[in-house]
Amino acid sequence: MSFEGKVAVITGGARGIGRAIATELAAGGAKLALVDVLLDVAETTAAEFRAQGVDAAAFAANVANPEDVNRMCDEVIAHFGQMDILVNNAGITRDNLIMRMKESDWDAVIAVNLKGTFNCIKAATRPMMKARFGRIVNIASVVGVMGNAGQANYSASKAGVIGLTKTAAKELASRNITVNAVAPGYIQTEMTEKVSDAAREAFLTNIPLARAGQPEDVARAVKFLCSDDAAYITGQVLHVDGGMVM
Ligand code: NDP
Repeated sequence: MSFEGKVAVITGGARGIGRAIATELAAGGAKLALVDVLLDVAETTAAEFRAQGVDAAAFAANVANPEDVNRMCDEVIAHFGQMDILVNNAGITRDNLIMRMKESDWDAVIAVNLKGTFNCIKAATRPMMKARFGRIVNIASVVGVMGNAGQANYSASKAGVIGLTKTAAKELASRNITVNAVAPGYIQTEMTEKVSDAAREAFLTNIPLARAGQPEDVARAVKFLCSDDAAYITGQVLHVDGGMVM
């Protein structure tokens, strides 16, 4: 899969699944725009990619903030001259049972995971429409499909991302922009290190392939959806979950 000459914007690209996605796309020749709330966090990872000969640059943006996102997109265009691939990967959790969930925890998760994805799609739409080309991949989650006790905010945000994916796919298809989602299951990252041992056991017993996923498992699915091989696929949700949801 070749991404030569393509510029990929990856939110939350400095670590975890986002970094694995950046690695896969860069292996295919993509230039990387790594986005994080803090510039120095993204810059550290971008510098590591540059040391391996990858054309990578860091950009600061809180995806929940539309002004930040618009400025970041302008900066990416100013730096690279184009934006071909957008991976909406930035995400947070603030888990609790509904009866104990603070309004601020509901709002924060919806703001980053759902509104952040909307903000980035909206900002990327103009350059992609002009270029008559775009690949957008949104990182959802199995819990956006099946729900999960203790994750009302997170599962609602990810279910919202799936609806947003399908709507954006319909709106942008005529401009040769595909929009798909990847729904990871239980993937070993810093995010899932916070999960209790009991919850981890419960997840693992429900995975037919009987193991946690690795960031690379998700990254390879994203890479496919960004490639020419997926040119006729849009509005889909690809589950990368070891068979957890069928
Ligand atoms: P991590 O917590 O390891 O990484 C999340 C990344 O998002 C970090 O780089 C973080 O930046 C960044 N980020 C958080 N908030 C913002 C924001 N407001 N603006 C910009 N960047 C932000 O998570 P994972 O790698 O595990 O998860 C990546 C995606 O995959 C998320 O959308 C998550 O919901 C989803 N997912 C993960 C699963 C898993 O099992 N791990 C399962 C299903 C879905 P910083 O370093 O500054 O905090």
